[in-house]
Amino acid sequence: MNVLELHHIDKNYKLTGGELYHALRDISVSFKKGELVSIIGESGSGKSTLMNIIGGLDSDFTGKLLFNGENIGEYSEKQLDEYRKNKIGFIFQSFNLISHLSILDNVTIAMTLSNVSKEERKKRAEKILEQVGLKQHIHKKPNQLSGGQKQRVAIARALINDPEVIIADEPTGALDSGTTDQVLKIIEDIAKRGKLVIMVTHSDKVAAHSSRVIRIADGEIIDDRKGRELAYVEETADSSDFPKGTKNLSFASAVTLAFQNMKAKITRNIWVSLGASIGIMSVILMLSLGGGLKAYVNQTINSMINPLVVEVNMDNHTEEPSVSKEEMNPLSGNSTPFTEADLETLSKIEHVDSMDKSVNIMGFGTNSIIYGDESTSVLSISTMSPNVTDSALLDGSFPGDNEIVIQDEIATALGGDMIGKSVTLKWLVDEQFYSADFIVSGIANNNYVNFEDLAQVYADNGNELQPTTVYLVTDDESHTDAIKAEIEKLGYKGSAQEAMMKLFNDMIDALTFVLASISGVSLFVSAIMILVILYISVVERTKEIGVLKAIGARRKDIKRIFVSEAFLIGLFSGMIAVTITSILGWIANRISSSLFDMNIVQMEMSYITFGIVTSIVISMLSGLLPASKAAKLDPVDSLRRE
Ligand code: ADP
Ligand code: MG
Repeated sequence: MNVLELHHIDKNYKLTGGELYHALRDISVSFKKGELVSIIGESGSGKSTLMNIIGGLDSDFTGKLLFNGENIGEYSEKQLDEYRKNKIGFIFQSFNLISHLSILDNVTIAMTLSNVSKEERKKRAEKILEQVGLKQHIHKKPNQLSGGQKQRVAIARALINDPEVIIADEPTGALDSGTTDQVLKIIEDIAKRGKLVIMVTHSDKVAAHSSRVIRIADGEIIDDRKGRELAYVEETADSSDFPKGTKNLSFASAVTLAFQNMKAKITRNIWVSLGASIGIMSVILMLSLGGGLKAYVNQTINSMINPLVVEVNMDNHTEEPSVSKEEMNPLSGNSTPFTEADLETLSKIEHVDSMDKSVNIMGFGTNSIIYGDESTSVLSISTMSPNVTDSALLDGSFPGDNEIVIQDEIATALGGDMIGKSVTLKWLVDEQFYSADFIVSGIANNNYVNFEDLAQVYADNGNELQPTTVYLVTDDESHTDAIKAEIEKLGYKGSAQEAMMKLFNDMIDALTFVLASISGVSLFVSAIMILVILYISVVERTKEIGVLKAIGARRKDIKRIFVSEAFLIGLFSGMIAVTITSILGWIANRISSSLFDMNIVQMEMSYITFGIVTSIVISMLSGLLPASKAAKLDPVDSLRRE
C-alpha cells in the first residue's frame, strides 16, 4: 500500500500586487514504505514547496494528498499538528537546531510537546543518538558540534517519534563531501529499516544513493525512474518500546523551555527584570512608608493616652439648643460643662469602674502664677486626670493635695529651681479674681492641679465648679472600645486626641494612595518594556518557532512558551523589587531609628505578595500580544527566514 499519494497537486503563491506564481503544476505521484526517494531539480523548481505540502506545513494548495489513504486536506488543525508530530520527521539543510537547548533537549523536543516524562525522553533519545553515533555528546550545545554532527542531531530529532515519513530538504547541502557520505549512510539506513524517506537534493552524486530519482523542473515532474536496490533490514519492533504521548505540552515544560531561552540571554533579561521591578518597588516602598508613618503617629499619640481611660466631652453641637451662652462655664475655655444628669448617665455605662472630673481653665493674659516678687501669666491650667501619663512629667511628681505641677517655661520665668516652693495661682472667674496657694510638686508640659482643690476654691467663693471633661476608668483594656461606642451613642464626644489621630491616619492614607498611584505609572512603563522585549524575542526566534511547528507544536504550545517567558520575567522582577525594597527599607530604618527612634518603612507580607502578584499579572498581560503573534506565525514563512 502507498504511504503517500499525491493527486493533481497545484500550488500558487500570491505575490504582492495580486499576481499569482504557479509553483507546482499538476503533481501526481505516490510513495511506498522503504523507498529512498531523491527529488532533484534546479533551485527555484518547487522542491521545498512540495516538501512543505507533504509535511503538513502548507495546506494552501489544490488537489488531493493522501496519507495511508486518509485525505490530509480534510484534517483539522489539531489532526494536522498530530500528523506533523507523529507521522513526519523533518530534516533541514541548515540543521535548524535550537541553539539554547542541549543536544538531548533538541532531540526530545517533540516528546516534550507530547508531555512524555523526562526519564522516558532520555531513554529514547539515548537510543536514537546511539544510532547516529552521538551518544557521548548528549549534554553539549549545538554550537559545540561540527556541521556533520549537527545534521546527525537533526536526524535523531526527526526520528524521535518514530515517524513513517522522513522529509529531508537538502540535508547535505551545507556539508563537505566526507560528512555528506556519513549523513547519507544514516539516511539510507533509515529507509532500509522500512521508512519512507523523501530527500531533496540538487546533486546527482547524492541522488545516486537512492532507490528512486524524481526530476522536477518549473513545478512539474519531468522524470521518475528507479535507482539502485536497497537491502532491507528486518526491524525489531522499534515503535512498541516507547510511549507515544497523546497529551500536550505541560505548563512546567513550557516554563522550563522559556527558562532555558532566558538563560541564553541572561544579561538582557536581568536588565529587563530590573527595569520592570522599579514600578513594583516604588509601589511597595510607598505603601510601607505610609504604614510606617501611621504607626509612628499612632504610637506617639497612644503613648500620651492611658488605655484604661476613656475621655468624654460634651458635644457642643448637639447640646447647643439647650445651653445658652451665659450658662456655659466661662472658665473652661467655652466648653460645655456636664450636668449632674450627664454624670449620672456616664457613670452607669457598663464596665465603667470610676469617673474622674476635669476642667481646663484658659486665660488670655488674665491668669497668673506668682512666686515672691515674680509673676508670670498662664495660658492654661488643667486638672489632673488618669489620662495624664508619666510621659507628660519632666521632673518631680504629680500634684497631691494643694500641690501644683507647673510648665517648665513658667518654672524658668519664675527663677528656675521651683520644686518645693510655694506659689500663688490667680485666675479670673465671672469678673472676679480667685486665688489659692499651692506647693510646686513637679515640672511638666502643662500646669496641673487637682479638681478637688479647685472645686474647694469655687465653693469658698460661693460658686460651683462644673467639669467639662470626664474620664471613665475601666479595669480592662478590652472594654474601652465598647465604652467609646456607648458614649458616642449617647451623644457625647470622645477625646480631641483621638479625633486628631483619625484625621492624621486619614491624611496619611490619602497621601499613601496618591504616592502609590504615581508610582503605579511606572508599572505602565514596565508593561510596555516587557511587551517590546517579547516582541523582539519573537522576531529573533521566528525560525525556531517555524521549527517547533514543523515538529508538531500547536499554536497553543507556542503561545504557552512565550507567556511562560512573560511569567518568569514578572516573577523575577517581583522578586528583585522585594529584595531591593527590603534593602532600601533596612537602610532607611537604620537612619530613621537613629534620628527619631522609629522604623519609617514598615513592610508587610501583604505588600510583598501584592508586589509579586501584580508584577506577574502585568508581565503576563503584556506577554499576551507577542505570544499570540508568535503563535500565528506561518511555519513556511518562518522556516524560509534566514
Ligand atoms: P526550491 O526548493 O526548488 O529551490 P521553492 O519551492 O523554494 O524552490 O520555490 C519554488 C518557487 O516558488 C520559486 O520560484 C520561489 O521564488 C517561489 N516561492 C517560494 N516561496 C514563495 C512565497 N512565499 N511567495 C512567492 N513565491 C514563492
Ligand atoms: Mg528549496
